[in-house]
Amino acid sequence: MGSATAWQLSRAGERVLLLEQQDKEYTFGSSYGEARICRSLGPKNDIWSYLHRRALEETETLLDFLNSNDNAHHSMEDIYTDSPVTYILHTNKAEAVQRMLKQQDDPYTCAATPEEAFSKFGVIIPKDRIVIQEYKKYTGTMNPKTLIEKLHKGISTKGSEIRYKRQIKSVERKTGCYEIEVLDKDKGATEFIEARKIVSAPGPYNGILLRDIAPIIADLIAPKRVFLAFLKIDPLRFESYSPEQKQKVFNFYPLLDLGPDHIFSMVEKRDENGHPLIKVGGHFLREEISNLDDTWTKELTHNEIEWCKKSTVDYFKFLNVPLETQHLHYQQGYSCVYSLTESEVPIVSNLPNKDNSPDPNGVLLGGMSGVGAKGSLMYGLLAAHLLLEKKEEGFMYQKVKKALHLGNSTQ
Ligand SMILES: Cc1cc2nc3c(=O)[nH]c(=O)nc-3n(C[C@H](O)[C@H](O)[C@H](O)COP(=O)(O)OP(=O)(O)OC[C@H]3O[C@@H](n4cnc5c(N)ncnc54)[C@H](O)[C@@H]3O)c2cc1C
Repeated sequence: MGSATAWQLSRAGERVLLLEQQDKEYTFGSSYGEARICRSLGPKNDIWSYLHRRALEETETLLDFLNSNDNAHHSMEDIYTDSPVTYILHTNKAEAVQRMLKQQDDPYTCAATPEEAFSKFGVIIPKDRIVIQEYKKYTGTMNPKTLIEKLHKGISTKGSEIRYKRQIKSVERKTGCYEIEVLDKDKGATEFIEARKIVSAPGPYNGILLRDIAPIIADLIAPKRVFLAFLKIDPLRFESYSPEQKQKVFNFYPLLDLGPDHIFSMVEKRDENGHPLIKVGGHFLREEISNLDDTWTKELTHNEIEWCKKSTVDYFKFLNVPLETQHLHYQQGYSCVYSLTESEVPIVSNLPNKDNSPDPNGVLLGGMSGVGAKGSLMYGLLAAHLLLEKKEEGFMYQKVKKALHLGNSTQ
């Protein structure tokens, strides 16, 4: 979010200083890995669909800029991997699903009975499930690492500055400016930087970093631990699949199984033999955090790893592709962090002053939960507009801006 906003501000002609505590190669942040689901199936005027679609337009603008300033060719395919997105829902959502699908202009296939699911997709579902596949250009997964690299190239080319391994320790309001205390992690030295305007986008650290200037943020955005596992199918097992079965595996990731745990799963990447590395987690499997800094290094528990394996084996049963637990190897696990508002809708809003009035010189992006990546360039545009006091008039732009306003973060 910080990189997206720094790009949008730089593109608008502002001089920006982006401070990032990690090195040039990001190895952690709210989430981990090189794939995030990007999708936009939703009811008419759905804010999430709009955020994704507008972010795609904004990405194209970034790439056009890079291509006119760089010898290397930058393409959307560097960032996006098109793939059908599979949704599994309970039949108690059937009416809402039918309403949503009636309003769809985008291509999809829906199967509402086991017979339909088998004839349309060749998958096996219980009677109480519905399966939908969404097919669209730049829908499937996106690679945040590549996007961030391109954003940083754009920011530098526009003449703004990025300083890596700089950890912000505190932010204070002074007369006419903000004072930011920054630790240079290489030198171990601290410096104070004065800025007329700031954008706060440190993910789950918003509450901690804004404690002095906007203490209310710590009450509005709660960090929660979630886990991710990377699993590999035993190579001999994968090689035993027919070409159609192998293709089916790729065609049915990414997955959103909207059951109680809300399983999300995707192909992180293919190895040198073309075998998938499968990433899996549970959107609602959240844990309270006592110390944020310690969370990132927390190992997955035995039960968490078993849950990831079982979810994947169950999914292969649904796919009608044979897979037994002993053929699924746990490669690596990560503790990640969701930043959650009460409504679970992110915040892109002016920072509140101590009396809660909006500060025109400060903007906050936070509470991105498990949805932020696909819309990042649009969240960045909204933040840049707030800081520059610019706006667009379109209905969806206004709807999204209102939904992300700080005042709407409680249910
Ligand atoms: C498990 C999981 C799965 C997800 N899956 C998806 C998905 O499939 N699709 C999707 O669209 N979204 C997904 N998301 C959501 C998405 O990853 C987040 O919304 C997004 O990463 C939030 O971006 P951010 O910039 O707000 O925070 P972060 O990504 O956490 O970035 C914050 C940055 O600030 C830096 N920082 C923090 N503190 C300081 C400091 N004091 N000084 C300097 N720098 C600092 C950090 O190093 C980091 O680079 C997922 C999230 C998680 C946790």
